[in-house]
Amino acid sequence: MFYNFGVIPPTGLQRKWFDMREVSSKKSREIDNLNKTDRVGSRPYLMADEQKDARIGPGFQVEIPDEPTHSFGQEEDLNREKETIWIPETVEYDPKEVLEADQIRHVYWTAIWQQWRGHIPFEMALKHLMECKYDFATALDSIDQKLKELPQEMRPVGMAQARSLLDMHNAAKKTDKRKRNLREIQQYLIKNYHLGEIQNFRYQLSRFYYYQPTHGVPCNCRDPICTDYQFEPRVGCTNCNRHHRPHLPVDPEKLCLICQTYLELRKEMRPAEQVVFNSSELEFLEKWNQKEAESGTRLTRDNVEKLIRMETWRRWGDEDLTDEEEAMLNLSKLVIRNRTKSGKHTEEEKRIKGSRILNQLVPLILPLFTKCNCLISGGIPHGSENRDKWSFSGEEVEKYRDLISCFEGDQFQVSEFLKVEPELVERFVEKYPENHEIWKGKQFFPLQPREILQPHNFSPIIPTFVYDDAEDGDGEPSSKKAKKAKKARKV
Ligand SMILES: [Zn+2]
Ligand SMILES: [Zn+2]
Ligand SMILES: [Zn+2]
Repeated sequence: MFYNFGVIPPTGLQRKWFDMREVSSKKSREIDNLNKTDRVGSRPYLMADEQKDARIGPGFQVEIPDEPTHSFGQEEDLNREKETIWIPETVEYDPKEVLEADQIRHVYWTAIWQQWRGHIPFEMALKHLMECKYDFATALDSIDQKLKELPQEMRPVGMAQARSLLDMHNAAKKTDKRKRNLREIQQYLIKNYHLGEIQNFRYQLSRFYYYQPTHGVPCNCRDPICTDYQFEPRVGCTNCNRHHRPHLPVDPEKLCLICQTYLELRKEMRPAEQVVFNSSELEFLEKWNQKEAESGTRLTRDNVEKLIRMETWRRWGDEDLTDEEEAMLNLSKLVIRNRTKSGKHTEEEKRIKGSRILNQLVPLILPLFTKCNCLISGGIPHGSENRDKWSFSGEEVEKYRDLISCFEGDQFQVSEFLKVEPELVERFVEKYPENHEIWKGKQFFPLQPREILQPHNFSPIIPTFVYDDAEDGDGEPSSKKAKKAKKARKV
């Protein structure tokens, strides 16, 4: 008797959202039938801090396998097959191997990581490369087959959901209020996702909305996998989508990173004969053709995305929602309070409510990474040998001093001459300022101002959803709030 309690996300190309209502009604119905005297109620699990007596009856039996899986004294996993994930191509050490290892990460893995935004894990990419006899291009052409075995695509959560999780974390920090566990987050805040998905999202949220604002953007300037590549999503790739968008030639300007990398490696177009798209990608391609047929013109991917977005927003504004979208709303923050008249909403109130729904459902699209940019503005990046250099040898002191004098305080020229970062020259002057004795009898020049480029690709701002007429709700409806909200949903 196993139920899907929305723990592990389903595998494959067709996304299924977690519908709590389905699970709880199915569970309680079955338990009702099995054991009329001892039912758990509609909640299919215990909360972490909840005490319950052991339950007795045919509905609560533990399943014990007929045969023991192993006997006493026997190594448990003796007969199990171990999965080999990676054996390097060359066993003996030679310089080629080192180069290959770098190439695997900087060429092959970068393409996969950036294209799928981390959805395909590194070990899977490695194993696939091994199965493709260590040929990058062959492996890239077929890596999308792995999507069939992976957890379903992660759809972005709505802004209101992200806000409620963020508020919960902030409140827990300030007031020492207990943080909700994953199951409670699923029950109250992010209802339409499996626990495995919520856990990943929670990590990303802390990364972008807690760690980066408090500790700064981690420096990724010297890491080739964080290069800013321009590429299409696979639906927009004119090579990947060509079997779905007939009568169009491949446009080399509109390729995904997989096809671009293949082209670079092989100097020919990727075959891409069996491209694996998930169901929402296929739906998008279908809509694209449909919109073109309707309008009688060619539309770019951008155009179609905009058209679909406008349609969705209009639908949300009209309160025409799918069941999943309903489950994503924070009802307590939708209620229009201090209404002049009770009863049916006026046109104006309907409009307000529609726009609140829209703002709540706008997807939170997080970047794959925030690009640091310290290196191009002359800073000392992570991985530089000068990162922790704060002292200078006697010889260095003379060299730096004389060069600063010679180039009249132009730290960029000094740094070019010394093959170090301009920031290091600035560190030197901080340590040996004008009044320091090393400058006696030498001419000191103040250094030039240096413009520091800010990182780019920050995560979007999540609105607070606090309105003049509304009190601040956290998404967990108290009985009174819930009643009000329910009433508000009806009219
Ligand atoms: Zn940096
Ligand atoms: Zn492509
Ligand atoms: Zn073909």
